[in-house]
Amino acid sequence: MTGLYDVFERRLRVEGTLVTETGLHIGGADDGLDPTAVDNAVVRLPDGRPYIPGSSLKGVLRSFLERLQNSPGRWLLSPGVRPEDCLHNDWELEKRLKQENKSERHVAEAIWERLCPVCRLFGCQAFAGRVLVADLLPIGERTLLERRHGVAIDRETRTAAGGALYDLEVVAPGSRFALSILVENPSDAQVRDLMIALLALAGGEIALGAKTASGLGRVRLTDARVVDYAAHDVLAAAWGGERTAYTLEEYARLLGVEAEAPRARQEALQAALARLGPEVTWQQAQEALRQVFGGEGGA
Ligand SMILES: [Zn+2]
Repeated sequence: MTGLYDVFERRLRVEGTLVTETGLHIGGADDGLDPTAVDNAVVRLPDGRPYIPGSSLKGVLRSFLERLQNSPGRWLLSPGVRPEDCLHNDWELEKRLKQENKSERHVAEAIWERLCPVCRLFGCQAFAGRVLVADLLPIGERTLLERRHGVAIDRETRTAAGGALYDLEVVAPGSRFALSILVENPSDAQVRDLMIALLALAGGEIALGAKTASGLGRVRLTDARVVDYAAHDVLAAAWGGERTAYTLEEYARLLGVEAEAPRARQEALQAALARLGPEVTWQQAQEALRQVFGGEGGA
């Protein structure tokens, strides 16, 4: 176990550019995407330019890894407590630990040992987590806003809500935002887990914001650079030079992460199908697909 205490052991910094490939809508604080609202505006900086809250990106990275963790592809992630046994589902246990143990340190260790890999990385109520995602600020002048119009669909009845039209503000395709992620004192296994999510982000597999099922929110991480402060000397030696930063792909290879996330998931799917036996019904195949590639919407 590393890094439970306030001691610097390692710091990983990932920087890059997040490019929107379709319209992107991230609304304000209580973004209910009210179908009757005239003006569904995107979140903006005080100067009026749109930005991407770090919490939004962190949320989709986390839920990507959660889906993976709950699928046959969980072998891709570091071993640990299974999600169904994770402490964040058991508040009584945390209370008991606090009563049984005297020092905060023992409680912290005991909690850590009972968390799933995703909670260890991204945190939960009992644990602060390791990943800090800064708000993504727009780069250059090409960040434009557009309006989209459509028929609002009632979520309950799945029908057009009385023919109501929605009017949605989106960040235009081709807009660029500066990404900066800091990970404090991660273990190698945790860095691998994060790399899997970032490779998926680079592969355009993770959607962001509202209405992703309708095609909004396609984003792609480009020009990503990884700086691993504690491991710098080791990595520089491995690459035979004075290197301080690595591309996402180089760094993933160093960590032994499959650099092509889609291929890794394809393998996970094959493994899931193999487990079903020689005769697979269409329904079973669909179920395996759903488990590997996530729920509805195919995000
Ligand atoms: Zn958990």
